[in-house]
Amino acid sequence: MIPYPTVQDASVALGRNLTWFETVWFDYSATKSDFHVYCHTILVLFLVFSLAPLPFVFVELTGWFERFKIQPKVKYSLSDMFRCYKDVMKLFVLVVGTLQFVTYPSIQMVGIRSGLPLPSLMEIVAQLVVYFLIEDYTNYWIHRWLHCKWGFEKIHRVHHEYTSPIGYASPYAHWAEVLLLGIPTFLGPAIAPGHIMTFWLWISLRQMEAIETHSGYDFPRALTKLIPFYGGAEYHDYHHYVGGQSQSNFASVFTYCDYIYGTDKGYRVHKKLLQQIKEETEEKGGKKYD
Ligand SMILES: [Zn+2]
Ligand SMILES: [Zn+2]
Repeated sequence: MIPYPTVQDASVALGRNLTWFETVWFDYSATKSDFHVYCHTILVLFLVFSLAPLPFVFVELTGWFERFKIQPKVKYSLSDMFRCYKDVMKLFVLVVGTLQFVTYPSIQMVGIRSGLPLPSLMEIVAQLVVYFLIEDYTNYWIHRWLHCKWGFEKIHRVHHEYTSPIGYASPYAHWAEVLLLGIPTFLGPAIAPGHIMTFWLWISLRQMEAIETHSGYDFPRALTKLIPFYGGAEYHDYHHYVGGQSQSNFASVFTYCDYIYGTDKGYRVHKKLLQQIKEETEEKGGKKYD
């Protein structure tokens, strides 16, 4: 809850006029408790997860961009994708909803704030970079562990049911995996705590990134290709294509962990072979894993 009754009081306390964003934030949160604001985290997740994969649903149903489909032999209908959406929504309500109540004390403990002033753009960007790097590194090792015999059979097998993933399948996993992968997501904000708005931005961007890497489409002009060491859709799609036996491409966002620890060798050989086949047959685009 913001400890100022009016925008004018907040301006006096800050010693300056509120920015437009701060006024909007004041109107939204002034009468809500910190817990109430934190509870809206799940709404942010619902909103992003419901809307962000829609362009990929359109692309899949129309077939207009089939040349960019990574595994073109696999087709999904609207009901297939809706079934996946419903499964993941259930998981969100049961696991993430419960987790939200349990994690509130830790959010308070680490000092994630929800008042004024709002963070500067520089602060937000710096924290997001740190969160992505920490998540990527921690997720890499947890994901690698999930590929041991026990971890795969008992937990990770569910996420690999989609050998050709779709956007809505990005969080499709065993409830234990959702809990486990919550650790890398919270670790960054716990080490470098910021504003709840930055936290929402972080989980939204991370989710959008996961939706893109599970989309099943590799668009050559995607803006994410400009990000250094970014894995992308084709990179993670290969991990799903190989399945449980995969000892390649474990990282969630970037490629450098797999490179450093030598877990991208299978992928690199695969890419080389594809290139050779392409050159020999003079095939253009499209068929990649056939
Ligand atoms: Zn895996
Ligand atoms: Zn995946």
